[in-house]
Amino acid sequence: MTESQRFREKIRATLMSSRCQKIVLAFGAHRITGLDYSYVALAVLQRVDAVVGLDVRNDYQGKGSGGFESRDPGHGAAILEPPHPLFANTIHEEMLIVHESTHAVFAAWKGTTVRRLMNEAVAYIADSIYNRNGASGDPTFDPAVDNRPPPAKPFTPADRRVMIAES
Ligand SMILES: [Zn+2]
Repeated sequence: MTESQRFREKIRATLMSSRCQKIVLAFGAHRITGLDYSYVALAVLQRVDAVVGLDVRNDYQGKGSGGFESRDPGHGAAILEPPHPLFANTIHEEMLIVHESTHAVFAAWKGTTVRRLMNEAVAYIADSIYNRNGASGDPTFDPAVDNRPPPAKPFTPADRRVMIAES
């Protein structure tokens, strides 16, 4: 199995898990539920095009742990992880997938515009709900301890305060 195949399967399994399917998030006139994450999980199984297909790539070069790239209309979109994934098969990778998939949900809502800051805030809240939704014995992330594996960069004090407030 190639890294790209592993990541694609990890996205599908994470989004279809009961932990993700239980997410319900209402803000303003909008509502995100497990159905939205099912849509994204199915989109990664489709041919990449402007309608429903979503690409999965491991060539992310940005500063974060991963990204969502929505290109111009007609050129599809992609969920990205670095060539050497930081958090392969950990709770942190699953939270990253839920976070980037939340951006994908907004991109899939044709005709709906969500402001950039709102888009980002809701994605962080969604990944922290996923973290809290685990059954007993499931791995969870404790930002107060920051048990992310290396080479994760240490949180700034501001990042840490926000994450603890969310959790
Ligand atoms: Zn984001």
